[in-house]
Amino acid sequence: MVQGTSAGNRGRAGERNPENLGGIPAVTDMHPAIRVSEIFGPTVQGEGVLIGLPTVFIRTGGCDYRCSWCDSLHAVDNQFRYQWKMMTIDAVWQSVVALSGGRPVMVSLSGGNPAIQPLDALIERGHGEGYRFALETQGSVVRDWFADLDVLVLSPKPPSSEMSTDWAAFEACIEAAQEKPQVVLKLVVFDERDYDYAKGTAARFPRLPVYLQPGNHTPPRPGDEGAPVDLEGIMKRMEWLVEKVTRDKWFEARVLPQLHVMLWGNRRGV
Ligand code: SF4
Repeated sequence: MVQGTSAGNRGRAGERNPENLGGIPAVTDMHPAIRVSEIFGPTVQGEGVLIGLPTVFIRTGGCDYRCSWCDSLHAVDNQFRYQWKMMTIDAVWQSVVALSGGRPVMVSLSGGNPAIQPLDALIERGHGEGYRFALETQGSVVRDWFADLDVLVLSPKPPSSEMSTDWAAFEACIEAAQEKPQVVLKLVVFDERDYDYAKGTAARFPRLPVYLQPGNHTPPRPGDEGAPVDLEGIMKRMEWLVEKVTRDKWFEARVLPQLHVMLWGNRRGV
């Protein structure tokens, strides 16, 4: 299950390295281009608060985390950087407009960790044309432009990821949003420890809506996205999660599957 542990200068699972964002220099305000892994859609959002909503995805390249079960290693690991493109805001935007036929749609900014990219000018441009923006991040990198988003999904990583949460940075992300976008918590749960972490996180931020989902323990290896998922195993964990939440009378939590995994398994670009 653990991926991302061997080749060359790849980061190791469980290793956080904010100085080495995928092995190539961080994009800075001096170079306002965006490092893009892929742009695709429209499809429907497969998880969390916006599940089912038609969406165009901009997946950025590079991440300061190396979660043991990451399902997007092609957008994380340095060894796949040859697949990433440095794109101007104009080029990114033209792709979004072409995919959506010029009709305003929800744009999901994902990754990797999209917070390490300079996305403020892109958001401003899209808002000017009536588009909306949701960003999902683990909450390790704070940006003042979080306040410009429509939806901020904060997805801190539980113990099974082998990462540890920097709660000061996480809280700074919430503060940066200034209560302007809708801010929600999304937590992946694989086991009892993850469940306890999710409960503790929810208790820490009682004003934020909580979305729980069973993790995919058969994530794709880059280049092998046709590999089967253990849907039966995932659904068993989903059932376990529903039982835990109801038994605990945790009535504020919403438990959802990953719709795209149910529909398309590990396929990319859907
Ligand atoms: S934070 Fe997300 S994109 Fe980054 S390694 Fe973890 S699961 Fe993958």
